[in-house]
Amino acid sequence: MKKIVVMGSTGSIGTQTLDIVRSHRDELSVMALTACSSVDLIEKQAREFSPRIVAMYDPKSAGELSDRLSDTDIKVLGGMEGLIEAAAMEEADTVVTAMVGMIGIRPTIAAIEAGHDIALANKETLVCAGHIIMPLAKKNGVSIYPVDSEHSAIFQSLDSEDHADVERIILTASGGPFRKCSYEELESMTAADALKHPNWNMGAKITVDSATLVNKGLEVMEACHLFGVGLDDIEVVIHPQSIIHSAVMFHDGAIMAQMGSPDMKLPIQYALFYPRRPYLATKRVDLIELGSLTFERPDPEKFKGFKYAYEAARCGGIMPTVFNAANERAVALFLEGKIGFTDIARLIRHAMDSVPEVSDPDVECILDAADAAIAAVDKMCENPGEKN
Ligand code: MG
Repeated sequence: MKKIVVMGSTGSIGTQTLDIVRSHRDELSVMALTACSSVDLIEKQAREFSPRIVAMYDPKSAGELSDRLSDTDIKVLGGMEGLIEAAAMEEADTVVTAMVGMIGIRPTIAAIEAGHDIALANKETLVCAGHIIMPLAKKNGVSIYPVDSEHSAIFQSLDSEDHADVERIILTASGGPFRKCSYEELESMTAADALKHPNWNMGAKITVDSATLVNKGLEVMEACHLFGVGLDDIEVVIHPQSIIHSAVMFHDGAIMAQMGSPDMKLPIQYALFYPRRPYLATKRVDLIELGSLTFERPDPEKFKGFKYAYEAARCGGIMPTVFNAANERAVALFLEGKIGFTDIARLIRHAMDSVPEVSDPDVECILDAADAAIAAVDKMCENPGEKN
């Protein structure tokens, strides 16, 4: 029986992780659930899966949940301390990190220090703190299994191969809903337009990140840390059908790719059962029905957030954090209808120009840089005349 902690259990990856647990009750048991503030859903999940601990990041929600679960022996915790206690709980084997954003950093570190394997779905953790997380995982003998579909595909393509034989990683991207739009058309796109992803059904934040290609920039940084490769060893290819989830090219020219229908349950299940492949009731790809797979080059001049991601990655230090935090804030403002679609990249640019560089930052410094980036975005939104 594998004992798991599901962090971010009410989100898209979290609920799909629990779907997998439902299909494998004899092999997976839930020790803890965590969420930000969705009290109704997490109460239902807690009653169904009977974890020892449920933690809510929002202390008020934790208080309400504690009242609602008072007829059970489930321990209810609140705040960052609660998330950390859940992540580090002694009985766990694997922690699924599916929370959204940088709040994932501290709990992930706590889980690794407690010796738990990580099923990593929170890419911000590696983007901002990969230089801390990866050596820490190695030191503690902890495995990190990627849940991001592209990184899972790379992980599957690399399995049993010698990493020294890798020539290049081919990271695929759907291109998002605005792939064919001109830059001028992008300027008038609303949150409702951006949330219509052509292939994947995901949470709102990552769906907007997919439309801006910022998600792909974050994934390039994530891949550098996970697979120990340089920026220039990764080629991003737009593949609108989302059937090839990513690939690895070796020194003899061979390309190993992982294909399948776009369904996050596959990478989640692979991370939980590695190296086994239990049955999964997902749609099978019919190659003949599909007919053709196509590939294009991404356009960094149209999707400027993608370009700035490379700049942040090359700069290193706190700059990936500034990039990420500015994006998190800008996407929230975009979803609230307060800024336009192309303002997201503009605000990222502004934050990267405003926050001074720091190399080899510790966690404290990373969190300070995030605050500084958010402040830079907010200040610019109060004084929109300064834009550009
Ligand atoms: Mg992905």
